Amino acid sequence: MRPFRYERADEVPAAVATLVKEPEAAYLAGGTNLVDLMRLEVTTPEVLIDVRRLTSDRIEELPDGGLRIGAAVPNSDLAADPRVRRRYPVLSQALLSGASGQLRNLATTGGNLLQRTRCPYFQNVTTPCNKRIPGSGCSAVNGYQRDMAILGASPACVATHPSDMAVALAALDAVVTVAGPVAERRIPLAQLHRLPEDAPDRDTVLERGELITGVELPPPHAATRSRYRKVRDRASYAFALVSVAAALEVTDGTVRDARIALGGVAHKPWRAITAEAVLRGAPATRESFVDAAAAELAAARPLPGNAFKVPLARNTMVSTLLELLEQAR
Ligand SMILES: Cc1cc2nc3c(=O)[nH]c(=O)nc-3n(C[C@H](O)[C@H](O)[C@H](O)COP(=O)(O)OP(=O)(O)OC[C@H]3O[C@@H](n4cnc5c(N)ncnc54)[C@H](O)[C@@H]3O)c2cc1C
Ligand code: SF4
Repeated sequence: MRPFRYERADEVPAAVATLVKEPEAAYLAGGTNLVDLMRLEVTTPEVLIDVRRLTSDRIEELPDGGLRIGAAVPNSDLAADPRVRRRYPVLSQALLSGASGQLRNLATTGGNLLQRTRCPYFQNVTTPCNKRIPGSGCSAVNGYQRDMAILGASPACVATHPSDMAVALAALDAVVTVAGPVAERRIPLAQLHRLPEDAPDRDTVLERGELITGVELPPPHAATRSRYRKVRDRASYAFALVSVAAALEVTDGTVRDARIALGGVAHKPWRAITAEAVLRGAPATRESFVDAAAAELAAARPLPGNAFKVPLARNTMVSTLLELLEQAR
């Protein structure tokens, strides 16, 4: 690992100013992703600014009945919070499906959102990768494809975003609060991460120096049930091949509202807006769920090595919705 300087800022503006001033500086939270990438020399920051004491580690009630999650809240605390478990079970389930107990104790809300892809070529500095070195090429396009994207990819990059938590937050219409060099801003979570297009080195819409300070959850509708399902190669300690975060509101046999996000299929948590549109007002039946999944996945462009993800995503969407329908009865 390359030598680096460690600093702890006392105030947000000072941390942001350091990041803007020093091109080779990076924020450090739990370090469970960043430090691994430093060991592999995928990233080589000269300065680490520890932000764990800079942002809140508390989960607070919002006046509208929602919750505000500080960026430094550990993944374990968020998953175990009784309000999260009761009101947003999809979020607790997503967190508990990720990593291990020890990692979740260290990992933070802000760091989880900004973890980098697990594409093996990104992590291997001896292979071309446009995300690591723009313009060097994409080794995955003609290489290992099992974990790669089926939606929204580009010839420049076919990687997937690895966070489970972010998929649940996308389905919940969460909003990310950010402090920056100019002003604070609020970004809907579904718009935080980017599709790769021709600039896969940029994972998100964040500008240099912007610090995630928290995540806000809108109040859940009383009749809404939510669920996270993750399909992976091992029962634990593995990233998603496909995951589905879904929230469903059904009255009198009709879908009043559906919010669905997919993980493991794209460069960002994939909000399934086409499927949601098909479902709203439709009979709450298996047929409607199959139609909705088919409509969403019509845009899928799998690679030869991951075509299995299309039926896998369809079946996982349908079974998750059926499970929620069962709960609503
Ligand atoms: C073996 C293993 C298995 C795993 N399995 C899963 C899994 O199944 N599912 C899953 O979702 N995750 C999994 N993870 C990833 C894990 O969830 C992430 O490593 C963790 O959430 C990152 O959080 P952190 O606080 O440690 O971030 P760090 O490693 O400290 O930071 C990650 C990135 O975020 C930036 N950053 C951190 N905080 C902020 C902030 N407030 N504002 C702006 N930038 C910030 C850092 O600069 C860095 O670029 C796994 C990790 C490991 C090592
Ligand atoms: S898929 Fe993306 S991250 Fe993986 S090698 Fe290609 S450019 Fe790099």
